[in-house]
Amino acid sequence: MRTRIAPAPSGSIHVGNARTALYNWLFARGQGGVFVLRVEDTDQSRVSEESYQAVLEDMRWLGLAWDEGPEAGGEFGPYRQSLRSDRYDAAALSLVDAGHAYRCYCTPAELAERRKAARGSQAAPGYDGRCRDLTERQRSAFDAEGRSWSLRFRVPEGRTITFDDVIRGTIATPTSQIPDFVIKRSDGSPTYMLAAGIDDALMAITHIIRGEDLIAATPRQLLLREAMAIEDVPVFAHLPLLVQPDGKPLSKRWGDVSVGAYRKGGFLPEAMVNYLALLGWSYDDRTNIFTVDELIDRFSLERVARNPAAFDVAKLEWVNGHYIRSKSPAALAADLELVCVEAGLPAGTVEGRRILTAVAPLLAERMKRLTEAPPMLRFLFGRAAPDDKAAAVLAGQGSYLTAVAERLEAIEKWTAPAIEESLRGLAAERGLKPKHAFQPIRAAVTGTLVSPPLFESLEILGRTETIERLREAPTA
Ligand code: GLU
Repeated sequence: MRTRIAPAPSGSIHVGNARTALYNWLFARGQGGVFVLRVEDTDQSRVSEESYQAVLEDMRWLGLAWDEGPEAGGEFGPYRQSLRSDRYDAAALSLVDAGHAYRCYCTPAELAERRKAARGSQAAPGYDGRCRDLTERQRSAFDAEGRSWSLRFRVPEGRTITFDDVIRGTIATPTSQIPDFVIKRSDGSPTYMLAAGIDDALMAITHIIRGEDLIAATPRQLLLREAMAIEDVPVFAHLPLLVQPDGKPLSKRWGDVSVGAYRKGGFLPEAMVNYLALLGWSYDDRTNIFTVDELIDRFSLERVARNPAAFDVAKLEWVNGHYIRSKSPAALAADLELVCVEAGLPAGTVEGRRILTAVAPLLAERMKRLTEAPPMLRFLFGRAAPDDKAAAVLAGQGSYLTAVAERLEAIEKWTAPAIEESLRGLAAERGLKPKHAFQPIRAAVTGTLVSPPLFESLEILGRTETIERLREAPTA
């Protein structure tokens, strides 16, 4: 059993492709199969080394290790289509020789012109077959004009191409609905249809699990196989589309659509994988949290839905919160260190790690995204002028804060419970409600009104620093 993910590198992976990669990976892992990564970078105008690396990085971050592919190697390589042009050239040549493909001399402008003229008529949409039966003389005339040509596949007439999709059932397409499609562009590069179509065969892929947007490619790729006398036919499963909550296709205008954006947005890979698994697949109606091993164990194509799956950031955040809470303080501290350093805090030191490990359990309950942490932790890495809200709370509190400082100096052991007892005592003496007693302290020490729980925060910050901040807070 062999599955594959075949991303075209154009930056960080789209979440829809990440979901497709995950399903292929889960299916292969669950069945003891092989998971192949093939990079579809034949369209040189759109790819860069950077976006190629971004694909590998996203896959690694998600934990979707590939058995064969770039860096991993394998007996069916190379796994970058830009390195396989000899195969595509040979395939194209043999298709032409056998009469299954022909040169098309139509220019993009001519094609557009004729498409426009055909609009509203009864003609099937797509290529009109103009160059399908050119004579040798007509071809020479075009060549003499210096016209360039692309290669088109000659779709047989009067047939119906049928395949059984694991998710969508039997799908039958009359060839009258399949215009002669391009297999090689005029610059000599192979199209997706040809390259992916023959690579799936050459790489002995047994299960093609991909997005429903590619369903129209399947009869074309089956025709290519037939024309090349490839007898094996893989199992097909076309996954439902991911849509926005309003049912429209995921778009950048709506929100983040790439794995990289979610990574930068403070999501854990465990949460991303768990949530992506639920986009189109379910185990039962109740369970939402699955470890990777549980997913491998339970995933099946039979339980993939047909209808589109809505990407719900609130639910992803809920899943993320679960994984944040289930981390050990040390593990969460390591994640926090990355986001804090990214946010410019000097957290990447031994002392920084100690502070983050201490504060991690306090934050875990309060975060849906790791990126919420740096603003709440800034006070642990240096003083900052109070923000507007904190400044307003501090006004006129000079003598109260001095009294607070004196109480805290007198505490025997600097622990959160001792700090709490002393500060509640002072509040009771002065008849202050907790909010009025504690907000000025929070404002003086953290410079904001949002922080982890106060007493624990003061314990972590340390006595000397706390008292200095209380005494020096701007209260005028
Ligand atoms: N390169 C194609 C894509 O990224 C792969 C499609 C396929 O899985 O066949 O959409």
